[in-house]
Amino acid sequence: MDTQYFIDLEDRFGAHNYKPLDVVLQRGEGVWVWDVEGKKYLDCLSAYSAVNQGHSHPVIRQTMIEQVQKLTLTSRAFRNDQLGLFYKEICALTNTHKVLPMNSGAEAVETVIKAVRKWGYKIKKVPKDQAEVIVCENNFHGRTISIIGFSTNEQTKDKFGPFTPGFKIIPFGDAEALENAITPNTVAFLVEPIQGEAGVIIPPDGYLKKIRSICEQHNIVLILDEIQTGLGRTGKLLAEEHEGIEADVTLIGKALSGGLYPISAVLSNTEVLGVFMPGDHGSTFGGNPLACAVARAAIKVLIEEKMIDNAAKMGKYFLSQLKGIKSPLIKEIRGKGLLIGVEFFPDIGGAHRLCEQLMENGVLCKETHDHIIRFAPPLIISKEDIDWALEIIEPVLRTGKI
Ligand SMILES: *Cc1c(COP(=O)(O)O)cnc(C)c1O
Repeated sequence: MDTQYFIDLEDRFGAHNYKPLDVVLQRGEGVWVWDVEGKKYLDCLSAYSAVNQGHSHPVIRQTMIEQVQKLTLTSRAFRNDQLGLFYKEICALTNTHKVLPMNSGAEAVETVIKAVRKWGYKIKKVPKDQAEVIVCENNFHGRTISIIGFSTNEQTKDKFGPFTPGFKIIPFGDAEALENAITPNTVAFLVEPIQGEAGVIIPPDGYLKKIRSICEQHNIVLILDEIQTGLGRTGKLLAEEHEGIEADVTLIGKALSGGLYPISAVLSNTEVLGVFMPGDHGSTFGGNPLACAVARAAIKVLIEEKMIDNAAKMGKYFLSQLKGIKSPLIKEIRGKGLLIGVEFFPDIGGAHRLCEQLMENGVLCKETHDHIIRFAPPLIISKEDIDWALEIIEPVLRTGKI
């Protein structure tokens, strides 16, 4: 079976809601993936930071196999012997008091919106159905109807209305705008510490500290969406640590399973998740023993194998080497840890063709917003791997070809 055969199948039978690069992958190990024709590539996307621990990490894989042979799903109608241990370990690691496990990132976001609304009515005494959540321009929090309703990306919303009310949008990185948007009915501020999908947009220094203090002052729940930035991606366990703050609620997902299983979680102080009563919320698969066992292993290897330190070190190196590339095509290069964005001038005709060039030569990455390429390899990447990638990346970024 060749590449074109699989592409034709996808095109014929699948909804066309993605425009993938035409590479058909079959196998992955560490930072490397192989296509159906046996060609090897360095993965510089890591499934949007879900594969931080590297493809098919042996410890996570083995844990998954063993758990599959024991017990996979009970539903939350019964208890299981993995859920409590997962709670205990993730709470200890992230200094959290309460956890609510879900499956996808979008579900974690939906969950927290329900929680802060109920918190607003029950604890803050906001009048019925008046709760407001403040969010940022160019946010990305997922693809459900409620979430896309507060997106500022036209295509994301186009022809999908009507949307859920109760959201207010302010510019990202502007603490004063937050202060000005707050009303007595504001219950929460939902924000990404670094906007990943928007193109690795890093807020000004001190922003997180400022929003932390504003939320405290006005009795508003600060929710950090760390689904992409969390679990080591930026060189810290959570990106909030770069400014030494703690959110009231943190959302994690993606790398929580190392890419082996869809798992997300809402991590919260006692007060916010404390508002949920039996029957308020749920998910058939959320918190299942397979998910919990996989997540426990994924967190364990992240810490024990010092992947976060490596992300900090290798991120610094990768970023400085990329910044050393002199190119008339590049407008700006920015990043934190191994979350790096290269922004091209809009008149180069989009970054998609550059991604195709890189793919041809063995480096997989994907453009975001037409003219930005995100480099986000697994956190286990070595200096040798980065040097190998740079040999390919450098000429493409400099000239648009190799
Ligand atoms: C990927 C992502 C989500 C959505 O996660 P899904 O698992 O795709 O639903 C939400 N927020 C951020 C910041 C993300 O990067």
